Amino acid sequence: MDAFQFSRPTSLNQAIQLGAKASTAQQSADVRFVAGGTTLIDLMKLNVERPKQVVDINLLPLEKIEPTPEGGLVIGALARNADVALHPAVQRDYAVLSQALLSGASPQLRNMATTGGNLLQRTRCVYFRDTAHACNKREPGSGCSAIEGHNRTLAILGTSKDCIASNPSDQNVALTALEATIQVEGPRGKRTIPIHEFYLLPGSTPHRETVLEPGDMIVSVTLPPPSAGTKSHYLKLRDRAAYEFALASAAIVLKLDGKKIESARVAMGGVGTKPWRSPEAEHALQGGTADMATFRKAAEAALKSARPASENGFKVELAKRCLVRALVTTTATT
Ligand code: SF4
Repeated sequence: MDAFQFSRPTSLNQAIQLGAKASTAQQSADVRFVAGGTTLIDLMKLNVERPKQVVDINLLPLEKIEPTPEGGLVIGALARNADVALHPAVQRDYAVLSQALLSGASPQLRNMATTGGNLLQRTRCVYFRDTAHACNKREPGSGCSAIEGHNRTLAILGTSKDCIASNPSDQNVALTALEATIQVEGPRGKRTIPIHEFYLLPGSTPHRETVLEPGDMIVSVTLPPPSAGTKSHYLKLRDRAAYEFALASAAIVLKLDGKKIESARVAMGGVGTKPWRSPEAEHALQGGTADMATFRKAAEAALKSARPASENGFKVELAKRCLVRALVTTTATT
């Protein structure tokens, strides 16, 4: 690990001023905000992240979970994953988010990891974390070791010839199905970003993962008001039952009128280079009957554009079955 400067601002303004140094630095990676530290510190120890300045934002008042005037919920960037998962309003109105969070990591990690940090969780591609191997995401232009290497856990949707890394988060899949918005403050002021616009496909620039600019800080995430009668569910399939990333997962938010599907939002994890919303699956579900034929049609549509690599072809069928099972469970609950 390289030596770095360390600051602990006590106000949002101070933190943003420190972050603003990143917007003028030659490399935006020179300044990093740290909260729970469950991703950044690991990567610094591995020399994957080498910031010159680390800004600890844990003293900022960004840990609250509160209702919005419109009836939604605003979750502070520093709200711990465990606190969000167990919050009564989240469990009551946004079950898919609670289930996704509780399926991730371990109790100890969930006690530390934050909402904002989880949004920026980095890929678990083994080559990204090993500086002995070429990786376009870690070192632009160096090549991708995974395309001809170990890629069993990597993405089959949204890939490019330069990167096939999967997004590892569970939280972000649920937030995508819930159509969350992300509030950001930085050197260019405040802005709100819908989650479907937040993540970038790798294309030829896999080192750019989000639309955040240098110095931008996530301050909160807002969930829209729950619609009466909506049901939601998160299903995660993985190699072992705990402390493991998804091979495939599905977040479902459905509104039913009897057996008729009035509205559907579908997102998938473990298979995409970003939390993967599937308008194709939603289109197949919308207006249909909640039965196996409709669910299978939605699953086929969702995976139609899948492009597996040498070791992860099994994910195509796994993701379809995951989606069907998640839809069966969602529609079976009262
Ligand atoms: Fe790096 Fe992406 Fe290739 Fe993995 S898949 S080695 S993260 S460029």
